[in-house]
Amino acid sequence: MSSLTFPILQVLADGNFHSGEALAQQFKVTRATIWNAVKHAETLGVEVFSVRGRGYKLPQAIELLDKNEVLKAIGEQRAWFKLEVLDEVASTNTYLMQQKGAAHATCVVAHVQTHGKGRRGRTWISQLGASLTFSLLWRFQCGAAALSGLSLAVGVALIRALMSLGVNNAQLKWPNDVLVDGKKLAGILIELQGDLEGPSAAVIGVGFNLNLPKNVLESIDQPAIDLTTIKQINQSELLGVLLKHLADVLSSFEAHGFIGLRNEWLRYHAYENKPVRMLLPDGRDVQGMVKGVADDGILLVETALGLQRFSAGEISLRGLE
Ligand code: ATP
Repeated sequence: MSSLTFPILQVLADGNFHSGEALAQQFKVTRATIWNAVKHAETLGVEVFSVRGRGYKLPQAIELLDKNEVLKAIGEQRAWFKLEVLDEVASTNTYLMQQKGAAHATCVVAHVQTHGKGRRGRTWISQLGASLTFSLLWRFQCGAAALSGLSLAVGVALIRALMSLGVNNAQLKWPNDVLVDGKKLAGILIELQGDLEGPSAAVIGVGFNLNLPKNVLESIDQPAIDLTTIKQINQSELLGVLLKHLADVLSSFEAHGFIGLRNEWLRYHAYENKPVRMLLPDGRDVQGMVKGVADDGILLVETALGLQRFSAGEISLRGLE
């Protein structure tokens, strides 16, 4: 990869034309080197217009993360976090899972995530300047067995963060997608490390749509929405506020478990008492009426077979109305 790609993208972020010559002078390299670095950006899915006589330009201005702004927005708890901003990574979750000795509350955020992951091998789509993708490592004294309900707890933190930024109509789809108007705004992927008895650690991955181009949103195989459609929020501020609320919720989860957050989770639940379809891994499909969640985050659904319990690994939920 070219180490100049991101410094050049920082310049192009203003959305204006920058000539190859001016960029070459600024970075003290040849125009061919600039051209190669721009080509590398294209392999990352970043579209760069190149116009003879005018230079290079992004289709629109983009806003890149500013570490100081993130720390400012976290507020008092900023000292808890170790924030690492990467230009480019395959997956922030995979990267953090591989950092064996990483400190508690390490947050890795990437400008570009090339192989973002969803649950069960699915893909998370993101783009430079149009998505917020980060992972947070949280260490627990308890074992991984006691972490059921964690992914629901994380959903509560995301909703609290959105509400504090003035977005009041976000809801949760069990176990933890964030929806607005029934469309997916953010996804969460949690991977656990450690023993069942403890101690354990969770890598909490979050993907947030900021302002994805229409064709990208439409290419996603389920209804999706981005934050700009709802409200203009600076992504550094968004990340800081998310981390602040994650710190609060994860501390409460560690002290009391999901039970202390359950009633709040139910208030945000998009499909409470609604008819749903559950997609099973073998392709079968069960219909039923959602009847809340248990104290450990298990989904309760009234089906033709009576009240059934589903754990997060078992099904994907879809609304029926
Ligand atoms: P569930 O969490 O209920 O199993 P899910 O299909 O939403 O279902 P996830 O693993 O949470 O699964 O997320 C991956 C899925 O999300 C992808 O298969 C795709 O349908 C969708 N998706 C991928 N990228 C985005 C995005 N940027 N915005 C919204 N949805 C996306």
